[in-house]
Amino acid sequence: MSDLLPDQSPSWQFLEAKVQSLLQSYGYREIRFPLLESTDLFKRSIGEVTDIVEKEMYTWLDRNGESITLRPEGTAGCVRAGEQNGLLRNQVRRLWYSGAMFRYERPQKGRLRQFHQFGAEVFGLEGPDIDAEILVMIARLWRDLGIHDHINLQVNTLGTAAARAEYRQALVDYLLARKADLDEDSQRRLDSNPLRILDSKSSQTQSLLDQAPCLHDFIDSESRQHFDAVCARLDSAGVVYEINPRLVRGLDYYGKTVFEWVTDSLGAQGTVCAGGRYDGLVEQLGGKPTPAVGFGMGEERLVLLLDAVGAVPDSVGRQLDAYLVAVGDVGHIAFEYSETIRSQCPQLRMQNHCGGGSFKSQMKKADRSNAEIALIVGEDEAATGNISVKYLREKKEQQLLPVADVVKLLNQL
Ligand code: ATP
Ligand code: MG
Repeated sequence: MSDLLPDQSPSWQFLEAKVQSLLQSYGYREIRFPLLESTDLFKRSIGEVTDIVEKEMYTWLDRNGESITLRPEGTAGCVRAGEQNGLLRNQVRRLWYSGAMFRYERPQKGRLRQFHQFGAEVFGLEGPDIDAEILVMIARLWRDLGIHDHINLQVNTLGTAAARAEYRQALVDYLLARKADLDEDSQRRLDSNPLRILDSKSSQTQSLLDQAPCLHDFIDSESRQHFDAVCARLDSAGVVYEINPRLVRGLDYYGKTVFEWVTDSLGAQGTVCAGGRYDGLVEQLGGKPTPAVGFGMGEERLVLLLDAVGAVPDSVGRQLDAYLVAVGDVGHIAFEYSETIRSQCPQLRMQNHCGGGSFKSQMKKADRSNAEIALIVGEDEAATGNISVKYLREKKEQQLLPVADVVKLLNQL
């Protein structure tokens, strides 16, 4: 779990501001739900034999002996909250959330135990149009962030539960005959979660899979039509994608469309956003049958990518416009000036020097603050209603101006 230090926060703020404004521009509304849920919720939604539930959850008994878990992802809590508050019945909802998620993983670059996601979920729409809208929206986000050249889209369809069951059997039959050649993890998954073998990182397992039955040959015609329609919309929107028949996702609730956005620029932890359709989950958790589709994006990985390609404008990191220096016995007048200025310059970022000191030492602090200008109030200025404006980053003459003119100048920064 890592601390976020002030020097890193501009990248996070840049990302968060862009994501929020984009989601809102597509009609998504924010929802917030607890970091803790009953353990059972995650077991029932994500699936008992997934990596997350088997070995990644922070789970303990509370004082009542009830098993609770720090949320490892957002979809389950979002569905629980939506259902419990009556948001999902016979209505279309576009929801977004952001915040910390927790998984007990081996920490490495782009993989933490407390990490942060933006998530969005759409309820009540079953057609391919919303799947495509989500993907086009995310493609727009990459453009807004200036990282579109570094991220590729992979899509797949998982078909219906029946189609997957049939495929699962065919895959198990094929792999059982070659069990000895599989990596250890995949051998274990053969019983518990064989589709996850498609996702194996072992090159030997991957080459065995080259000759294995292909999921696409088992997909039902409705799911196929749905998928073709999603792809057609992506084509017409000019969103480039690759169809990856081995893309399965690590959570049990997905069916039909699934997708991942992947970058080559971060080494092994390359998936920055992932999601898909989960039409069965709301009902499985006790609601009415409700089609749904959504995604989660990993903020740490996106920040790493933004920083790696230098996509965050310098202006985002600039902390201050002005630093107010008060020399001599002028403290209360400088204070009055600064409050007047703040009231009349609502965008201004200004820091007042506190604690006194010589002109020289205050100017040193002004310089180190990275502010554009120093506003100097000495005894002469205080007596005449003026402020001296000194430019700290540009070669420009110092000016002596009445407070009202300083306000005008600051509003033009
Ligand atoms: P991975 O294959 O990288 O383990 P996942 O399939 O477990 O990812 P999801 O549950 O789909 O991940 O979560 C969505 C996104 O959240 C991921 O694509 C990734 O960007 C981010 N993410 C997931 N786990 C972590 C983690 N431990 N640390 C940082 N980011 C993470
Ligand atoms: Mg994972």
